[in-house]
Amino acid sequence: MQNDQKNFDVLVAGGGQAGIIAAICAAEKGAKVCLLEGAPRTHRGGNTRHTRNLRPMHIGPLSVLSGTYDEDEYWDDLMRVTKGKTNEELARMTLRRSTECVEWLEKRGVQFQPPLGGTLHLGRTNAFFMGGGKQLLNALYRHGEKLGIEIHYDAMVSDIEFEDDAFKNVTVNDQKIYAKSFVAAAGGFEANIDWLKEAWGDVAENFIIRGTPYNTGGLLKLLLKNGAEQIGEPDQCHAVAIDGRAPKFDGGICTRVDCVSLGVVVNKNAERFYDEGEDFWPKRYAIWGRLVAAQPDQVAHVIIDQKAKGSFMPPVFPAETANTIPELANKIGLNAETLEKTISEYNAAVQPGDFDHTELDGVHTEGLDVNKTNWARPIDTPPYSAYCLRPGITFTYLGVAVTDKAQMKMANGALCKNVFAAGEIMAGNVLGQGYLAGIGMTIGNVFGRIAGNEAANHALNR
Ligand SMILES: Cc1cc2nc3c(=O)[nH]c(=O)nc-3n(C[C@H](O)[C@H](O)[C@H](O)COP(=O)(O)OP(=O)(O)OC[C@H]3O[C@@H](n4cnc5c(N)ncnc54)[C@H](O)[C@@H]3O)c2cc1C
Repeated sequence: MQNDQKNFDVLVAGGGQAGIIAAICAAEKGAKVCLLEGAPRTHRGGNTRHTRNLRPMHIGPLSVLSGTYDEDEYWDDLMRVTKGKTNEELARMTLRRSTECVEWLEKRGVQFQPPLGGTLHLGRTNAFFMGGGKQLLNALYRHGEKLGIEIHYDAMVSDIEFEDDAFKNVTVNDQKIYAKSFVAAAGGFEANIDWLKEAWGDVAENFIIRGTPYNTGGLLKLLLKNGAEQIGEPDQCHAVAIDGRAPKFDGGICTRVDCVSLGVVVNKNAERFYDEGEDFWPKRYAIWGRLVAAQPDQVAHVIIDQKAKGSFMPPVFPAETANTIPELANKIGLNAETLEKTISEYNAAVQPGDFDHTELDGVHTEGLDVNKTNWARPIDTPPYSAYCLRPGITFTYLGVAVTDKAQMKMANGALCKNVFAAGEIMAGNVLGQGYLAGIGMTIGNVFGRIAGNEAANHALNR
């Protein structure tokens, strides 16, 4: 970076969707903008690279969404998952302003798919990006470059300086960069295993991080150290059970294993521990990360038989298979006798009924310590298959508190006049716990736009 480029109107840290959207909004207002992305260009875009959709409120149908999804229904959905742990003012504003997301993105080159069909039931609530998060990012970066935003890769913010309670500069690669306004959009701290261990203990060593290794929470820590008000709990996050053979970081969505409701899940002691058929999988998959995290060595195995094959999306890694349960147990390192006993007891407890995986069929077990309440069929048709499961952390919720102008709140009750935050780094304002598919990108889009506009307003004295 040249010396004459060290002063900007708006400086944005983090090159995921929240950051690039904020940068675009500020540049469109006429501000001189610099975007600092900690990752190299090949890995730009953080967790956004892995995304597929966002969840916009709408009165429809629209070209990309079927039916209508109004505020009352959206709010009820959010209440159900957060159990009320949300800031109602900010959450309702997010829902209302989500109506603008699709058009805003389309105008800047992002393309969407027609409403999704099939069994996921998301065609009415979730707008899918054509080509996923990478296409969205490529379009937005292209647009940002045309607007003249100065973009730096390998540009991890390592320090931040405040003066008189206002942002002054950041340090990147031993160089100070100054700006009139600062937008913090550097994601959560999910890739920082040491920080996760502070909340979860040593079990966090066995967590797999589904997204970018660059979201280490360094900027979040600096903001908190400099007096920002913390929002959210350190152990609250989106966590799913993923294939235990997934890479430690960045495996993305293809490491999902979607056959839990069709089989049984045992821990390393070959014992079942939770109702695999509690509800439809899309409504339950986000609780299984925590469930597996609570098991010995944070590992579990889903066991299915031949009947289940073809009824779920095939995982990217092949299953271990065997013609008998003891043989399968030996292959996956479980005690063969115990696994056989667990499966036999489960099979004996299955009650007659008409299996139907497209509805809550009530086909259940009786008399077990842990009963299965739907889709309980005996596991009796070889070959048997097993997939190893581990907790997969998607993103953390602890962040900085913000206002409806995305302005960062300080722990002493003041507002920081020139620091704004968007995306995962402030998502905990809306998501105190739980998750609603597509709301991560919705929060980042809405607050990215607000943060960019407000940062430019401050810098340009408007
Ligand atoms: C596998 C997966 C699938 C997902 N699918 C969906 C989905 O379909 N829909 C949905 O709504 N949500 C989804 N999410 C969640 C979604 O990714 C996030 O909510 C959203 O992308 C957050 O955007 P962001 O810009 O805040 O963070 P990110 O996109 O993660 O961007 C943060 C950026 O900050 C950079 N950075 C970090 N530290 C620094 C620093 N100190 N200095 C400079 N830069 C730094 C990183 O390199 C990164 O590029 C998914 C997440 C994962 C992991």
